[in-house]
Amino acid sequence: MRAWVVGTPGQVDSGPLRRVDREEPVPGPGQVRVDVSCCGVCRTDLHLAEGDLPPRRAAVTPGHEVVGRVSARGPGATRFTVGQRVGVPWLGSTDGSCRFCRRGEENLCTAPVFTGWDVDGGYADACLVDESFAYPLPDGLGDERAAPLLCAGIIGYRALRCADVPPGGRLGVYGFGGSAHLTAQVALAQGLRVHVLTRGEHNRRLAEQLGVDSVGTATDPPPEPLDGAILFAPAGELVPVALRALDRGATLAVAGIWLSRIPALDYAAELFGERRLRSVTANTRRDGEEFLRLAGRLGVRATTVAYPMDDAPRALSDLAHGRFGGAAVLHT
Ligand SMILES: [Zn+2]
Ligand SMILES: [Zn+2]
Repeated sequence: MRAWVVGTPGQVDSGPLRRVDREEPVPGPGQVRVDVSCCGVCRTDLHLAEGDLPPRRAAVTPGHEVVGRVSARGPGATRFTVGQRVGVPWLGSTDGSCRFCRRGEENLCTAPVFTGWDVDGGYADACLVDESFAYPLPDGLGDERAAPLLCAGIIGYRALRCADVPPGGRLGVYGFGGSAHLTAQVALAQGLRVHVLTRGEHNRRLAEQLGVDSVGTATDPPPEPLDGAILFAPAGELVPVALRALDRGATLAVAGIWLSRIPALDYAAELFGERRLRSVTANTRRDGEEFLRLAGRLGVRATTVAYPMDDAPRALSDLAHGRFGGAAVLHT
């Protein structure tokens, strides 16, 4: 089978992805093999290719928003049938035994396995997944539309909960790509007022189309104080900007796995008044199940741009340069 791997991490346009031919993977105990139909392109893949995230394995295949069909089952794998459609997410597995797993916070597991970082992901014809970490996908949701839900959607949903906005409150969304445009739909459906603060023509237009309450540039103050905010842009310089936009007692949740340097904070202007700054780290399976159920019920729809799997480097480059709105999806 054919697969993309991260060769030497480096600037996206210098060609960090390499195409390789590999044996089809054989599922081990509790695993299934998934023949990839499509795989969403997440900003984490870009951080991995460019070396912002240190490689955890040489020549790893990126991709953790995988939609495909089960083509083989390993010993003891009985959850899915061969031919069944499943989603393969970022959280590939946990040890189930550390202090965090034991208290129901498996997103903080001390020995996690992430798809497309620790183990090969979905920029390939097939990949393996531990069956208990895969998701069954609802009928009526096409493969391409389902893919971005599997990381962008789930992580954004956790970030929304971490931002802790009261019912009917005002949410600020900094940066408006694949994850934000799904999260904003959930927030609007739940009755929040949503203010989007972002640069980039495509992103701003997409926000307007979704009917958010206002769209401004990232550095302008929103039209009203925020009861909570999510920073999706990987830009540390926006942390003080977003903190200043918060009302007293409100939380800024940083959704990304990587953030550029945060400048020194001004305690009085940016933190005092019990404003909170917190990160969002991976997700639990419960977050994923809840979000997928909610996404179906609320009609959350991903805006997608399709690329052939052969064009994975171009998709990553277009993401890096903000050349599309919504989420890119690679098709085998
Ligand atoms: Zn654990
Ligand atoms: Zn991701």
